[in-house]
Amino acid sequence: MHEISVLHSAVELAEATARENGVDRLSYITLEVGELSGYLPVFFEKYYPVVIENRPMFDGCRLNLLTARGEALCLDCNAIYHVLSCRGVCPKCSSRFKKILGGQEFILKEIGFE
Ligand SMILES: [Zn+2]
Repeated sequence: MHEISVLHSAVELAEATARENGVDRLSYITLEVGELSGYLPVFFEKYYPVVIENRPMFDGCRLNLLTARGEALCLDCNAIYHVLSCRGVCPKCSSRFKKILGGQEFILKEIGFE
């Protein structure tokens, strides 16, 4: 499962950022996961408790997950459409020729502390 390794990196980044800012306990972290990133949010929820184990800074720290919509620009007719619900095919002209505009990201978006 590649989710566990990217989640691990995000947790380490949050920890390092908190340390740099003199914070010793986090209350939440927010990850943004693109629909086209290939990562499944359900696995982040599943692995989060494992990844934060033995990291006191994450005691009681919540995991928030945001989804970034996967949208594409049709290069034949310039329509913008939702890739997943259209199965990658332009709903206006049926072209598969497209530029992905968003939804491929995996970002540590926010860390919160009290
Ligand atoms: Zn089109």
